[in-house]
Amino acid sequence: MARYTGPVCRLCRRHGEKLYLKGERCYTPKCSFDRRPNPPGPRPARRRKISDRGLQLREKQRARVTYGVLEKQFVRYYKEAIRRPGVSGENLVRMLELRLDNIVYRLGFADSRSQARQVVRHGIIAVNGRKLDIPSAQLSEGDTVSFTPRGVRSEYYKIVQETMKSKNPPSWLTLDLNGMSGRLSGLPTIAHGESHIFNENVVIEYYSR
Ligand code: SF4
Repeated sequence: MARYTGPVCRLCRRHGEKLYLKGERCYTPKCSFDRRPNPPGPRPARRRKISDRGLQLREKQRARVTYGVLEKQFVRYYKEAIRRPGVSGENLVRMLELRLDNIVYRLGFADSRSQARQVVRHGIIAVNGRKLDIPSAQLSEGDTVSFTPRGVRSEYYKIVQETMKSKNPPSWLTLDLNGMSGRLSGLPTIAHGESHIFNENVVIEYYSR
């Protein structure tokens, strides 16, 4: 399964803002963006004004990078978002938020989406009691996410148990700290605010041209 493997802090510097791609490190003085907020590469001879199209592209890239999705897959999400009934922008946000790796991250089972992806790939996450190791799998309302028996025996599980108490999942997820599981008690909507990482209308406009 393809994924971006380059330096992730460079992405924050390219986008001119913190995208919180490295978990705990992003909140420490080690954050590369805090230390060097300038774009990577040689300094441009003159600053160019960014066109409207350029701003749309930047927003789309920001959304894509934040969720760790490659362009081809992101285009598939867009096509599906406009095909489904309802508001396309909201459909797009919902599909990204309902990815298994995002939910593992949102529940606090991982510090970042990339770590969540790795955890899922290692086969220690179960959905409705059955192992699921596909990070892009779409979950539905009512689904339960937990650890597999192998996951419960892992060192990683013990570490997560220690850190879970400080995590605060969004309102559409119900966390059971004792059982170390989470349930999709609702669906993510833009109105929740917690899912508003990017401007979905700008992204839809970018692709619809
Ligand atoms: Fe971005 Fe986190 Fe790296 Fe800081 S530490 S530059 S927020 S990925």
